[in-house]
Amino acid sequence: MAAQETVDHKYVYDFAEGNKDLKDLLGGKGANLAEMTNLGLPVPPGFTITTEACKAYLATGRQPDGLAEQIEAHLESLEREMGRKLGDPNDPLLVSVRSGAKFSMPGMMETVLNVGLNDRSVVGLSAQAGGNDRFAWDSYRRLIQMFGKTVCDVPGEEFEHAIDDAKRAKGTNNDLDLDADDLRGLVDAYKKIFAKHTGREFPQEPREQLDLAIRAVFDSWNAERAVVYRRQERIPADLGTAVNVVAMVFGNLGADSGTGVAFTRDPGSGAQGIYGDYLANAQGEDVVAGIRNTVPLQELERIDKKSYDELLGYMARLEEHYKDLCDIEFTIERGKLWMLQTRVGKRTAAAAFVIAGQLVDEGLIDLNEALHRVNGAQLAQLMFPRFQLDHEFEAVAKGIGASPGAAVGKVVFTSDRAVELAAEGEAVILVRRETNPDDLNGMIAAKGILTSRGGKTSHAAVVARGMGKTCVSGADELDVNVPAKKFTVGGHTVNEGDVVSIDGTTGKVYLGEVPVMPSEVVQYFEGELDAERTDDPLVRAVHRIMTHADAARRLRVRTNADTGADAARARRFGAEGIGLCRTEHMFLGERRELVERLILAATEAEREQALAALLPLQREDFVEIFREMDGLPVTVRLIDPPLHEFLPPLEQLAVNVAVAQERGEDVAKEEALLAAVRRMHEENPMLGLRGVRLGLVIPGLFAMQVRAIAEAAVTVVRAGGAACPEIMVPLVGAVQELETVRTEAEKIIAEVIGDSGVEVLIGTMIEVPRAALTAGQIAEAAQFFSFGTNDLTQMGWGFSRDDVEGAFFWRYLELGIFGISPFESIDRDGVGRLVRIAAEEGRAARPGLKLGVCGEHGGDPDSVHFFHEVGLDYVSCSPFRVPVARLEAGRAAVTTTGSDSR
Ligand code: ADP
Ligand code: MG
Ligand code: MG
Repeated sequence: MAAQETVDHKYVYDFAEGNKDLKDLLGGKGANLAEMTNLGLPVPPGFTITTEACKAYLATGRQPDGLAEQIEAHLESLEREMGRKLGDPNDPLLVSVRSGAKFSMPGMMETVLNVGLNDRSVVGLSAQAGGNDRFAWDSYRRLIQMFGKTVCDVPGEEFEHAIDDAKRAKGTNNDLDLDADDLRGLVDAYKKIFAKHTGREFPQEPREQLDLAIRAVFDSWNAERAVVYRRQERIPADLGTAVNVVAMVFGNLGADSGTGVAFTRDPGSGAQGIYGDYLANAQGEDVVAGIRNTVPLQELERIDKKSYDELLGYMARLEEHYKDLCDIEFTIERGKLWMLQTRVGKRTAAAAFVIAGQLVDEGLIDLNEALHRVNGAQLAQLMFPRFQLDHEFEAVAKGIGASPGAAVGKVVFTSDRAVELAAEGEAVILVRRETNPDDLNGMIAAKGILTSRGGKTSHAAVVARGMGKTCVSGADELDVNVPAKKFTVGGHTVNEGDVVSIDGTTGKVYLGEVPVMPSEVVQYFEGELDAERTDDPLVRAVHRIMTHADAARRLRVRTNADTGADAARARRFGAEGIGLCRTEHMFLGERRELVERLILAATEAEREQALAALLPLQREDFVEIFREMDGLPVTVRLIDPPLHEFLPPLEQLAVNVAVAQERGEDVAKEEALLAAVRRMHEENPMLGLRGVRLGLVIPGLFAMQVRAIAEAAVTVVRAGGAACPEIMVPLVGAVQELETVRTEAEKIIAEVIGDSGVEVLIGTMIEVPRAALTAGQIAEAAQFFSFGTNDLTQMGWGFSRDDVEGAFFWRYLELGIFGISPFESIDRDGVGRLVRIAAEEGRAARPGLKLGVCGEHGGDPDSVHFFHEVGLDYVSCSPFRVPVARLEAGRAAVTTTGSDSR
């Protein structure tokens, strides 16, 4: 009975039965092939085996009941339609077997062309092609090669070596010079390779070829590289892949045949026009493999005007239909055009904005949809400084753009040398084969990092991204010789001290100094480029979309800024307040001495003296910031880090004291300092005496800061300005801590503000897991919460932020334990859950409680969406991230009818 039921389950869809919205079931490739078929475009007939069949196969290790029969039935109707039978010795039907998951996973899964060829049907194929033996044997050797590699794991190089040998024997390096006899010989060589690696002969039975190829595509879903890729990209592991079986059409039938790719707009700039490549007398995989030079698509007009015009017509139809840039694969078989694939095409960041703007102009999409066609990561990319490139500069190598930016500096090969030269004020680029945790200091000191090995999850890439430092990884043309302090590339030798320029966005490496300039988009945000006047299409598109995002968003966007200058820039970038003004830098420089006096104070009088000296300095700091923000809210965090950070390091102090004692100098002060540093030394300073704990232990410290804030506000208001201070207590874990601070603070505030009309809010950070879990209690004493997601991540995961990125994050990323560092993008399930609990319980206890987030997550696109969902009032981030947060807050607020684009 059960068997009967599963037989009824539909596992195979003819192209005429599907459509573009069935990506879950048919995969992206299959859904779009069906869509084109139904639009009446010339797609070779075929059918799609569903992702459900794949899932069933992977779960049980065998094809589900009914699948074999359904494949058989669809194959028969395909054979009827084509008037040919799979593998028929006289007049064979050939098919391609193509993988295609819901999300494109480039290079992860593969395709086999020309299934159905064997020792007998190769003759029939030649006859079909009017006695074209060369074509038939070329097709056969391709089948053995692709089948061997994809289905039977034969190392691909072996086939490549064999074809290279054949070309060498012929004295050519063009595969077109191989004639039918050469290719027949190559088929023999390939079969031997196949037999050697698989222990069996190449399968001659066409149905067996087809079944093995289908299984191989199913199995490729669980290949290790696919598993890791999915973990990193957060693509669910249980989607499975569809399999498309498509009647072959042939671009390798001669000069009147060929194959190509096309884009409906320039995926680089977004400009309208015709972009693509064409390769005559070739099968599809040759274009990607780059074994022969393609010609620009425009030349097809000269080669085959009829097909060219037809193709242009289809491209226009597809754009109109998908309402977006499409990319297309096509093949021409003896003057007849066939469409083999389409999808909404990938594009650069600049093109994404420009195209979204164009489509609005063309009336194809509305502004809400345009907002969804771009994203904050793209905007961030467009804000990095860039090289001013003209013809003088040509890249000598291209690696992986691992961490964006443009960096110029002198080459160094060791971490120590990087630190030395940087200390002398030099900009340096650290060049290594690959980096490891020992290179950390050098990486910190360098302007940029360049490696010859490793991908986007290599140590260099991960650490550089964490530090926001420009990095090009895996530039494998570089031959790096660390002991000799040089590298060579394309005939150039670069020695230590020579200048290079690296572009962490494109991965390109230049010799010498390429001038750097701020991007147009930053010039626009700075107000230096007028979007209404410029004819730069990118700036116009960014302006238009940002304006719409601002109108749409519910989240406010504030900035993290500690100085008037930062505050001013952030306002130009659109910040609507300061969400985090740190006060610790205000204790550095010449004020260090006052802090030392505070720490060393032996009597209450001495301590009060030190605080009294700090008070006017702090007040001035706040006056400047309040003036700059002109009545926008400013959240000031009371001092957070452990006090010993303001003192000299223990080792250095100990040496100084010992040396001075040896010389018989008076070291009373240094000894006292040393004793204090020893006393305050902590094994785990991150979990030690800091934040509110410090405020409760050092009498008068928080009080001084509160007084400085209140007095500054009053000063600004009395001078006719406006000030809106919010005092934020860090590291609170229990409501009692906050109550103690608050009682004291309220007394001071009442006394200072008098009748000035200034209003000061008192709230807390939620950054200790216990605070999140007792938020209901804490809200009784807090007028606002600001989530400190950096510490919340650190304490939630138990990751010491300063250590883990260099120590093992690269490994976690490589294994796919997370796809992105939880310090970069909020961990929704764990740390995010703490945020959600605290937001809900805080608001339940105090309706209308103001909620915000500070820390770099406030400028991370995915995190912004999460904070929108949780219902926070604002996010706060560094000035350069403010536009990104504005854009993403707009995207989070707007829902669209859904387009096909992502
Ligand atoms: P990928 O996803 O890697 O592009 P495809 O399944 O699209 O893999 O196929 C690889 C190449 O083979 C492409 O260039 C495609 O156009 C070509 N191809 C696929 N099926 C056929 C077919 N039935 N006839 C001719 N060429 C095909
Ligand atoms: Mg393709
Ligand atoms: Mg913190």
